[in-house]
Amino acid sequence: MSTAQSQVVIVVGAGPAGMAVAGSMAKAGHQVIILNRDIKFGGLAEYGIFPAKLKLRGGLRKQYWDLLEQPNVHYFGNVSVGNGKDLTVDDVRGLGAGAVVFTIGAQGTKAIGVEGDSAKGVYHAKDVVYHFNRLPGFGDRPFEMGNHVAVIGAGDVMVDIAHWLTRYKKVERVTAIVRRGPVERKYNPKEIRSVCANMDVDGIKKEFERIKDRMAAVGQKADEVLKGLTDEFTKCEPSVSETKMGFKFLASPKRILVDGNNRVRGLEMEDNKLDPKGDDTVAVGLKQLYEFPCDSVVFAVGDKVDETVGLPYKGGMFITNPNRTGNDPDDALFQAYDEQAGKVIEGVFLAGWARKASEGLVGVAKRDGDWCAEVVERYFATKNSGGQVKDVLDRLHALLKVRKSHPVDVKGLRVLEAAEKTYQGTSDCIGEFKYASNKEMAELIIRGKA
Ligand SMILES: Cc1cc2nc3c(=O)[nH]c(=O)nc-3n(C[C@H](O)[C@H](O)[C@H](O)COP(=O)(O)OP(=O)(O)OC[C@H]3O[C@@H](n4cnc5c(N)ncnc54)[C@H](O)[C@@H]3O)c2cc1C
Repeated sequence: MSTAQSQVVIVVGAGPAGMAVAGSMAKAGHQVIILNRDIKFGGLAEYGIFPAKLKLRGGLRKQYWDLLEQPNVHYFGNVSVGNGKDLTVDDVRGLGAGAVVFTIGAQGTKAIGVEGDSAKGVYHAKDVVYHFNRLPGFGDRPFEMGNHVAVIGAGDVMVDIAHWLTRYKKVERVTAIVRRGPVERKYNPKEIRSVCANMDVDGIKKEFERIKDRMAAVGQKADEVLKGLTDEFTKCEPSVSETKMGFKFLASPKRILVDGNNRVRGLEMEDNKLDPKGDDTVAVGLKQLYEFPCDSVVFAVGDKVDETVGLPYKGGMFITNPNRTGNDPDDALFQAYDEQAGKVIEGVFLAGWARKASEGLVGVAKRDGDWCAEVVERYFATKNSGGQVKDVLDRLHALLKVRKSHPVDVKGLRVLEAAEKTYQGTSDCIGEFKYASNKEMAELIIRGKA
């Protein structure tokens, strides 16, 4: 335990970044109050990471349970912060804690703004991921994918969606639509093992034939790249479906084509070429349009933060202090900043994907949280102690009561965990059962605690 005076810190968001902030601050002897939108902790570690990654998810869950059992950690699940939510940002700031850290992830989705993107059968990847991970609000909603699914993107999230579609939905065909070429693919070769048994290798060869001249124009050798790409199709997980997966490279969706019921029937696509840009390339539209038939479209093109929360926001991100001054100039990276007033928002910090949307894996979010805790510690050293934990908690309970909110504590989470473990009924794609509605969970917790 540190010799510094114990203070109260409120962490909003219980994903990997928030749990890292909470862990570091609790270890230093501070009182930590966690407010989390979801009943369950874990964020994307619970509701994003592919369900079959049991070791990773199990390890994180255990670590987070250990943290929440600490006497100086106070968990409030089912509490959303934002305009029109359980508590506003100002409410939270007014509770009297020494600091508030927002680790609420990047809940918005980037769109590429094509006509027709509100048609039936158009989905954002995070919603689909939340669906198969059974996040309340998504788990019990139908996602009708049809037979041929176009997934826009070339990163790990595209692969996760393809994994679900091939292994569990068993659709006929999945096509990854990629703006640039195969050299610019972004997914981790290890991740492709989950779907490579279903690769339509002949189709991929034809696709390379189609684009090889455009690759050559920027010095890329199609033969070598094809070999590199298909060499990664090793240690494939055994196939369980007839699904065929392929790629459409150098392709930009311009319009979603719909039938008379406003249901997706295809994409209008523009062919691209590559131009060099430094060591990299850029896609340049060739103004040649063609139709690409498909039954549904999933956009896996990245995330942005939720601008409705009420923190200063610009261009998909919450604003952090641009003035890198002070004892450690990098501290500014974590300080929320009011651009209109031209000053830092006193005692408010950001970490994880709330600070940098879509930035890296769990390890990166954890490091960001640890780093942010150091920044908060330095901030505490410059100011007098905030309120006492009892007072802050009393104010919080009173305010939640007024707002008719139903927070869930660790005891409630244990009741839920026990019920899910012993549930005898339909389970999700990996055989794990999770309640997919807040109502069911809340009722069960109330019954279990009575
Ligand atoms: C599809 C997908 C698959 C991934 N797979 C992997 C993988 O296999 N391995 C890996 O290491 N990483 C993976 N990642 C990355 C990893 O999930 C992230 O790096 C990490 O979860 C980011 O942590 P975070 O705490 O910043 O945000 P999040 O995990 O998003 O957590 C945000 C938390 O804030 C809460 N919250 C949101 N809004 C509010 C609000 N308004 N008020 C209160 N609480 C709020 C949420 O309930 C949630 O608990 C994946 C990501 C995605 C999207």
